[in-house]
Amino acid sequence: GAGDVHAEVVVLGSGPGGYTAAFRAADLGKKVVLIERYPSLGGVCLNVGCIPSKALLHVAKVITEAEDMSSHGVSFGKPKIDLDELRAFKDGVVNQLTGGLDGLSKGRKVQVVRGYGRFAGPNMIEVTGDDGMTTVSFDQCIIAAGSEPVDLPFIPHDDDRVIDSTGALELKDIPKRMLVLGGGIIGLEMACVYDALGSEVTVVELMDQIIPGADKDIVKPLMTRIKGRYENIHLKTKVTAVEAQKKGLKVTFEDDKGEPFSDTFDKVLVAVGRKPNGKLIEAEKAGVSVDDRGFIAVDSQQRTGVPHIFAIGDVVGQPMLAHKAVHEGKVAAEVAAGEKRHFDAKLIPSVAYTDPEVAWCGLTETEAKAKGIAYEKGVFPWAASGKALSNGRSEGITKLLFDPADQRVIGACIVGTNAGDLIAEAALAIEMGADAVDLGHTIHPHPTLSETVNFAAEMFEGTITDLM
Ligand code: FAD
Repeated sequence: GAGDVHAEVVVLGSGPGGYTAAFRAADLGKKVVLIERYPSLGGVCLNVGCIPSKALLHVAKVITEAEDMSSHGVSFGKPKIDLDELRAFKDGVVNQLTGGLDGLSKGRKVQVVRGYGRFAGPNMIEVTGDDGMTTVSFDQCIIAAGSEPVDLPFIPHDDDRVIDSTGALELKDIPKRMLVLGGGIIGLEMACVYDALGSEVTVVELMDQIIPGADKDIVKPLMTRIKGRYENIHLKTKVTAVEAQKKGLKVTFEDDKGEPFSDTFDKVLVAVGRKPNGKLIEAEKAGVSVDDRGFIAVDSQQRTGVPHIFAIGDVVGQPMLAHKAVHEGKVAAEVAAGEKRHFDAKLIPSVAYTDPEVAWCGLTETEAKAKGIAYEKGVFPWAASGKALSNGRSEGITKLLFDPADQRVIGACIVGTNAGDLIAEAALAIEMGADAVDLGHTIHPHPTLSETVNFAAEMFEGTITDLM
């Protein structure tokens, strides 16, 4: 093994939370060790999450846009898909980013120790690597161990026709009929990819709407579009059994009336959520408590119950998003370096990069109603946006929620093409305490989709004059 090393700050896990924390701590003058069990840095996000999924979603978007062109008088014909080249494109994007992290680590003299890390005491992690054990002693530690897909007990585990998001991103083949089990963000993004590549997709979701965290009316345009493209979307339905048969995977469903039905698929993608990796690091040996589900509780400075040990990212709780992990990573590193920082972001935006995209931040209407929070709203339907109509995609909606007391923006949801990019303006507005007049009086370039944010504010103020 590499023997013993000492770190002023050790970071366990090299995902977006971990590498951000490691780099920030190093920039602040700390001697940093970064522990990672996998050969490539970057965690779920870079290797099997955000990035590869977006590379494939880009390809899906081009395919479906080309299909949509036929109604505007331009036809391209059926796409020819070379899976090996498509996979190589996706892997190339991933490798460029993960390779970049190796360079950034070297540049900052962050020592990367490869292997599986487990706590051996309050100031010690033992790392089991290919070439034996390395003992890392530390002054302070940042746990960034991330999460992994939740698995279902009643599903065959040794059948390569049952996959999770990681398997879906491997792009081994394009199944003829595919079931996406779980109508959340990850399931629907993968559904979008496989639908564009030619699979007949069925989605099953336990709740009464897809993307259960988002506002109902914001999800509608997405629902309408995928209803027209996918084979089936079963809401309020649960899967009770998956049986491996020679001709396919026989899936038994149960609707909300308890009525069973079944169907057979070539592949089943299980996307029913993610579980934190907190139980896999023997945190108890350091005195850090981990709850039953594997989450580690932290305070607003990202400190666990043990003051010199911090935790960040998916392992500390929802929402399990890369930009949340990054923000927490910076807070933890700065606090570890002696700065007075704490997590005080007003909001964490969420985006489903489906087609159309669904994005929201701050208060949602569903949440406001459930909690009895007073709000007023400005809603702008994209059917009145010149840019959306020109794009041939006018099904979008931009909705802003305002505090009735001072007209400040307190929430936003957008559905439509590029909603994920558009939500950033609303996030800035909320973070800075902007009000409807600020958004209404800011001149937005015409014609753009960004105008819909301006128009939604004007709808609320009642000052809108010219919609197109
Ligand atoms: P992770 O990225 O999970 O990294 C943890 C790292 O720690 C891993 O590399 C792991 O190997 C390592 N590790 C864990 N335990 C040990 C140990 N004991 N020893 C050594 N190493 C260890 N989020 C977004 O914001 N936008 C998106 O578009 C998006 N798309 C996604 C798409 C998919 C298909 C998936 C699965 C996730 C997506 N996410 C997205 C979520 C995002 O990937 C996670 O929120 C993010 O990666 C969490 O970062 P993290 O640093 O907490 O942990």
